[in-house]
Amino acid sequence: MDKIIDQSHIETFQKMVSDARKIVIVPHVNPDGDAIGSCLGMKKFLINYGKSAEVIIPNNFPDFLGWLPGSETIADFEKDPELVRQWIADADLLFMLDFNDLGRSEGLNKELSAFQGNTIMIDHHPNPTAQCKLMISYPEVSSTCELIFRLLHRAGFVQYIDKDAADAIYTGMMTDTGNFSYNASSPETYHIIAHLLEIGIDKDAIHSNVYHTFSEDRWRLIGHSLKEKMVILPEFRTGYISLTKAELDAYNFQSGDTEGLVNYPLMVKGIVFCVFFMEKDDQIKISLRSKGDFSVNEFSRAHFNGGGHNNAAGGHTKLNMDETIALFLALLPRYKSQLLSGN
Ligand code: 5GP
Ligand code: MN
Repeated sequence: MDKIIDQSHIETFQKMVSDARKIVIVPHVNPDGDAIGSCLGMKKFLINYGKSAEVIIPNNFPDFLGWLPGSETIADFEKDPELVRQWIADADLLFMLDFNDLGRSEGLNKELSAFQGNTIMIDHHPNPTAQCKLMISYPEVSSTCELIFRLLHRAGFVQYIDKDAADAIYTGMMTDTGNFSYNASSPETYHIIAHLLEIGIDKDAIHSNVYHTFSEDRWRLIGHSLKEKMVILPEFRTGYISLTKAELDAYNFQSGDTEGLVNYPLMVKGIVFCVFFMEKDDQIKISLRSKGDFSVNEFSRAHFNGGGHNNAAGGHTKLNMDETIALFLALLPRYKSQLLSGN
């Protein structure tokens, strides 16, 4: 099924896993479906394989992932730093999943950098910078969950993927491809889904658990964002949405409520670039998406202290909302020819 992972990576992975006794698994900050799915899928595989494994996270995960089997066992570094430090101290193997730059582990950066045991990073973002003993980095794969399935299959470990692990893996594949609407044209993706169905996942139930459990406030916030806050700039084929802290408070914002909001301007005919600005703590958090050749990874690296993939990236500023939007608008003319030449 998989033809892309280097054979030497498979062999090193098998050896590091069989040599390990206690394993700790960590995703990026603000973990999404792919990050949590990867961690829980990997954890369940390792337990079924006879290892001791725990998942730690730099900060909380959104409610729409709370149904995933095993999510209740995750230790959040912001809530329980001592437990997380203890698990790291006890571990002899560390998995870092769905990120490739230690800065993306945010509060846990120091702990992860100091880790003395074996380290395996599995990721699909471009431009890896982190140092680790085994780096399994394949940006051409649409999700880290898919990459993990490919890896376990190639390593001969598929029999250790039970329904709980399969649920987690499918969730990451589904959420990182917008329900298989982008980066989802590889036949292998569907061979893997067929395999996961045979293991016993209920794909319709997973879809419903993730996408049909919004609170009323969340829908009202989406309504407000589209009606009052979405700005479309046809001259740059660009759109953006911004939400201040006061607006989020008015709709009783819960973590995960703005997930996916960034994509709406891209659904307007002709728009190829869109941005979502959200006031969070003392900064503006930025999500960027594009269609076609325009690289939001490069745009965010150059101007918004971030990065990601060509068509999906994130970043932040320490400016206020008005200043951030003014900066963004001032940048657009420079990119006009690129934006207009895209498909
Ligand atoms: P989101 O907009 O959903 O927060 O992030 C979109 C994509 O960009 C994800 O793949 C995420 O991992 C990546 N990303 C988000 N924020 C950052 C950032 O600050 N730095 C880097 N390098 N990647 C980011
Ligand atoms: Mn991912």
